[in-house]
Amino acid sequence: MPYGYHGEILHVDLTTGKLEVEEPDETFYRKYMGGSAMGTYYLLKHTPPGADPLGPENTLSLMVGPITGVPISGQSRVAATAKSPLSSLAGESAGGGFWPAELKFAGFDGIVLHGRAERPVYLWVHDGEAELRDAAHLWGQFTADVEDAIREELGNRRIHVLQCGPAAEKGVRFGALISNANRANGRGGMGTVMASKNLKAVAVRGRDRPELADPEAVKALAKWGAEHAGEGWVLGTAGSVLPQSKTGGLPTRNWSSGTFEGAEAISGERIVETIQKARDTCFGCVVRCKSVVEVTGGPFPVDPRYGGPEYETLATMGSYCGVSDLAAIARANQLCNMYGMDTISCGATIAWAMDCFEQGLLTPEDTDGVVLRFGNAEALVQMVERIGEREGFGRVLGEGSVRAAEILGVGHDLVVAVKGRELPAHMPQVKRGLALIYAVNPGGADHTVFEHDPSYIDQAERLAALDLLDPQPADVLNAEKVRYALYTQIVNSCTDSVCLCWFVFGGAWQLYDTSQIVKVIRAVTGWNVSLWELMKVGERRLNLLRAFNAREGVGAEADTVPPKLLIPLQGGASDGVTVTAEEVETAKSLYYQMAGWDENGRPTRAKLEELALGWVADELGL
Ligand code: SF4
Repeated sequence: MPYGYHGEILHVDLTTGKLEVEEPDETFYRKYMGGSAMGTYYLLKHTPPGADPLGPENTLSLMVGPITGVPISGQSRVAATAKSPLSSLAGESAGGGFWPAELKFAGFDGIVLHGRAERPVYLWVHDGEAELRDAAHLWGQFTADVEDAIREELGNRRIHVLQCGPAAEKGVRFGALISNANRANGRGGMGTVMASKNLKAVAVRGRDRPELADPEAVKALAKWGAEHAGEGWVLGTAGSVLPQSKTGGLPTRNWSSGTFEGAEAISGERIVETIQKARDTCFGCVVRCKSVVEVTGGPFPVDPRYGGPEYETLATMGSYCGVSDLAAIARANQLCNMYGMDTISCGATIAWAMDCFEQGLLTPEDTDGVVLRFGNAEALVQMVERIGEREGFGRVLGEGSVRAAEILGVGHDLVVAVKGRELPAHMPQVKRGLALIYAVNPGGADHTVFEHDPSYIDQAERLAALDLLDPQPADVLNAEKVRYALYTQIVNSCTDSVCLCWFVFGGAWQLYDTSQIVKVIRAVTGWNVSLWELMKVGERRLNLLRAFNAREGVGAEADTVPPKLLIPLQGGASDGVTVTAEEVETAKSLYYQMAGWDENGRPTRAKLEELALGWVADELGL
């Protein structure tokens, strides 16, 4: 077995209650590495075509990687992979905190969850062993209470718990997986899949750390990181609010504008001055990008146990909804963490409903009497709670914006989503490569799957290592930009498979560059890996995800740009700017050809064989 791994994957059949340990060979580990690539491998192997995402046939994988739990920054990540209840296509979501490292210490490289339990259960994994336990008493409880109850029941305060919340139990489609009551595998409804299996939580604890090939080299890299991280990320991602608004890239009032007049009031700077109580981190990370906030008194109290809003939440609950009340946004963030919901899909769906309300497509009669106008902080918080409870109008919004538009028969053109996944808070109008990547990404709109456009100029030196030698401005979508998008997407696809944090390891602005990614994997595993080999792992993952979608009969027709992006923005630095359908279609076609896919965006047998994925070509009947 290679260094850095346990060599054991736990399979849990919730239908029969049977637990089995798979011991894949070293080639398997080197080929897929871990995380999202390994999770998609199991998805293709175990979830049959046409499976109901909320049925027992769907498979939910929780995979870590070789570096997880190693004492260096940016490694405690877990990839959740399943067929998404939002898209009925491949779904994946990464999350951090302490749970991923603890799973590794508990003795496994990953868990594959099959079937559906008859009654609510939770999985207790510890010191290389696992058991299913009754969870009837935990069903319907808020996340922090569930975590406390499991720790008390098992008699250990150091246990970490990854769980679905009450929103997912009730069927909200964008249910998140929550750990620590404030970390989320938020996107794509992975929490809803867990709840559909009658699985409440996975609790982990252990002391088994895999041996490292070269501990001194790991130590040297960690030391270098600590020296270069300085004070870390003092404002966290919230520091992006002001620059984004200034450059016209902060989605405002359901993507009608890129500039928010209330940006100052919801900025990272304002959080630090007013409601920040502490900074937090993930296991072993010196970057410490997490903000913990507290609000006492007033209409929107916030308990620090539930963390604090990051950039995406400040935007989706704030500027998307025209809300500049920081306490209300922090409260909405808390509710999402309590109920276990993705803050991006939740805030964006409410923003969509507010847009419909403003345009007279919805009235108070539809919205339980709530005046869903942009800027109404109280209505925002009320609606988040109603979605979490899945009551009244919240029941409709809990379906996500795409389905809500279908159910209500209004506002189709106001939906800002791709493959059922609402757009995160980065605007393709000003970062044009995003238009392509949002469209073609197999899991739907995702801002973490490539390097955003400004990096091509700002980080030209580092990107040259990827043969990206011709920096392009952010607002163009030409052939060179397509190449840039594809290559950096492959790098991120690799780090999602090794399970590394994008804020720490990457091809551009991150603390560690691609040469150091190679070094750390060599030091941990003992494999003499190269950047070439790692790029192939990234490509393999991307092709596995596309292949899953192709097997569902879905290709280029799902790679779309929401119509709202084609309408000129109003006000600020991006006034009048728009994406055009033609430029995206041209870029898409070029991208497919560069990726080695057919004109319908499906991997070809030749491409799959080139990636040693002949079995996938067989699976697709190619
Ligand atoms: S940079 Fe932030 S999210 Fe990433 S590992 Fe460190 S603390 Fe966690």
